[in-house]
Amino acid sequence: MKHLFGNCVRSMSSNETGRRIMDSVPREKVDCVVIGAGVVGIAVARALALKGREVLVIESGSTFGTGTSSRNSEVIHAGIYYPRDSLKAIFCVRGREMLYEYCSMHDIPHKQVGKLIVATRSSEIPKLNDILNHGIQNGVDSLEMINGAKAMKMEPELQCVKAILSPLSGIVDSHSLMLSLVGEAENHRTTFTYNSTVIGGHLEGKEICLHILETKCLKEWDGTSILHPELILVPKLLVNSTGLSAPALAKRFTSLQSEVIPPSYYARGCYFTLSDTKASPFRHLIYPIPEDGGLGVHVTLDLNGQIKFGPDVEWIDGVDDISSFQNKFDYSVHANRAEQFYPAIRSYYPNLKDRALEPGYAGIRPKLSRPGQSPVDFVIQGEDIHGIPGLVNLFGIESPGLTASLAIADFVSTRLLG
Ligand SMILES: Cc1cc2nc3c(=O)[nH]c(=O)nc-3n(C[C@H](O)[C@H](O)[C@H](O)COP(=O)(O)OP(=O)(O)OC[C@H]3O[C@@H](n4cnc5c(N)ncnc54)[C@H](O)[C@@H]3O)c2cc1C
Repeated sequence: MKHLFGNCVRSMSSNETGRRIMDSVPREKVDCVVIGAGVVGIAVARALALKGREVLVIESGSTFGTGTSSRNSEVIHAGIYYPRDSLKAIFCVRGREMLYEYCSMHDIPHKQVGKLIVATRSSEIPKLNDILNHGIQNGVDSLEMINGAKAMKMEPELQCVKAILSPLSGIVDSHSLMLSLVGEAENHRTTFTYNSTVIGGHLEGKEICLHILETKCLKEWDGTSILHPELILVPKLLVNSTGLSAPALAKRFTSLQSEVIPPSYYARGCYFTLSDTKASPFRHLIYPIPEDGGLGVHVTLDLNGQIKFGPDVEWIDGVDDISSFQNKFDYSVHANRAEQFYPAIRSYYPNLKDRALEPGYAGIRPKLSRPGQSPVDFVIQGEDIHGIPGLVNLFGIESPGLTASLAIADFVSTRLLG
């Protein structure tokens, strides 16, 4: 982008119309734009670039992966939980295969540690059976129902009555993954532009006009004056991959009918770590039966063998559009949330000591369903739904979005380019 950037926010003088201001904003035609440099946006940019397209990634943060992509469990999911034939199921299974292959080829730190999904009392066994059936229907190989004694032999600190062993589950260093994808994309004519925010867009004929502003200007914004872009980009193809902000941004594309934009909700998930990091009590990922809104407070390992517990589910109100574009969500982990963690963890790890937990970090799930509603699938929205050629919106890319990222990218690039 040659014109980045001019003056920040300009107010309209009385004899100036909004139209005239827009006419005076510099414009550039570009081939493909991906908005958002999280793992999904980066993977989409790489996929488009590998197919020979020139890609510009616009990211409001100061670097890639500062949103949900660096605030998750870093688990490579096998694809067990999701409803049959859902996008989550299909992309998780395919994405997991692609991810293991990618990590091996590009030396990305990862480990197929395996996972135990545990029933801690006999009343949970029917749910465990359902989960196993889902997994089998989704095409997840090598799942095995094992009795409690076998599971507790594998993990002596574990307490359970039955478990599903999922040998295909693993962990990945998400930062190394993103770094590698960014490098590959850049080697194939992709440009990453940081500190730049898309604040909206409009259609002129069939052309999408994207409104761009330097993120710094939003920080200086008084919250009331009209924001005007400093640059208008006119891409042939556009992917809205802005994670938590995707519905809010879509609402600011004036030509997009509001009916096609799903309602958005947010569910924060907090993690706690162990204060005594000397000896990790577990070697596998340990998951309880899923709860409303999440997979339950589980045990995740990092590649150094250290464990963390989480994430829990706390439904929170969103922030306004402009704050969400700047990732101004509340990621604080309050120490008092540990009170709910102790009993949840002790249901499968009874030897957890008092005062053993320390606040870790938090991430926020971009939900499309309210508390108590059935989970909603990933929404990948193209021209057939919204009628705008060349635009793909990615909504509700919550877990297993990291695992599924390469498969989503493959699907989006094929949909746009054939
Ligand atoms: C607590 C938690 C645990 C999870 N655990 C797992 C797991 O173990 N395994 C798994 O597979 N998945 C997991 N996930 C899901 C996974 O992390 C996400 O699906 C994935 O990271 C989403 O990536 P993304 O690129 O869509 O979004 P993000 O990483 O949020 O990227 C969106 C980017 O868009 C930018 N942006 C926003 N608005 C604008 C704008 N207007 N202009 C320009 N840029 C903008 C943001 O700054 C951000 O960088 C978890 C999620 C959560 C919340």
